[in-house]
Amino acid sequence: MNQTITLEGLTKRYGRATAVDELTCAVHPGVVTGFLGPNGAGKSTTIRMIVGLDRPSSGRAAVGGRPYHALPAPLREVGVLLDGRSAHPRRSARDHLRMLAASNRIRDRRVTAVLEQVGLDGVADRRAGTFSLGMSQRLGIAAALLGDPGVLIFDEPVNGLDPGGIRWIRGLMRGLAAEGRTVLVSSHLLAEMEQTADHLIVIGRGRLLADTPMTSVTGSLEDAYLALTADSVEFGS
Ligand code: ADP
Repeated sequence: MNQTITLEGLTKRYGRATAVDELTCAVHPGVVTGFLGPNGAGKSTTIRMIVGLDRPSSGRAAVGGRPYHALPAPLREVGVLLDGRSAHPRRSARDHLRMLAASNRIRDRRVTAVLEQVGLDGVADRRAGTFSLGMSQRLGIAAALLGDPGVLIFDEPVNGLDPGGIRWIRGLMRGLAAEGRTVLVSSHLLAEMEQTADHLIVIGRGRLLADTPMTSVTGSLEDAYLALTADSVEFGS
């Protein structure tokens, strides 16, 4: 399948506020694309529209040319990590993944495979509610990987993780891109993005500010980012 994410004039309004404003860009396979912008820039809203959790006010978001809701087997085409703590706290990691697999007609053996892939095989039968933030993030990532999708979207995956966890996620994302998958990752952590992303999409106040390969960023990413977003920061937010 064509694994490109395309946004065309994507717009989301909440009342009189415009959270995402005529966003047009593409996210390509085989590279890690960093999705950057100040708090309130519209990153989460954009991701929610890509995966069909929010409806655009106008414009389009598509994966392989189709809106998310038109994909025949969404979990097998697009994996998403929105909030690491999405599993029921009383359910074991394995049962959480089994239920997801069953409801998406994914073979049970994928559950074992992704538990190993994220390093949770030793704690798979513990309740998700007893997991640390890092373990919960790994479980959320396991859920995203369950359908072996060609497109992966991670919203702030390293928030609150320790250096070991951050390094692990970096390696995972780079590996997924090296396999030819499309990897879109939002983050506030510029130093982290500098090490992880091949391409950057920067938004501010819902608008596209930059869509550029990392190699064209001269000097530090922090300097370039702060110059780019200087007019887009929501003070007091
Ligand atoms: P980011 O992820 O870049 O921090 P968000 O997408 O969360 O930004 O938010 C973009 C803007 O949309 C913010 O101003 C936020 O307050 C607003 N917003 C997000 N969700 C809603 C909602 N459900 N109702 C009203 N405003 C919202």
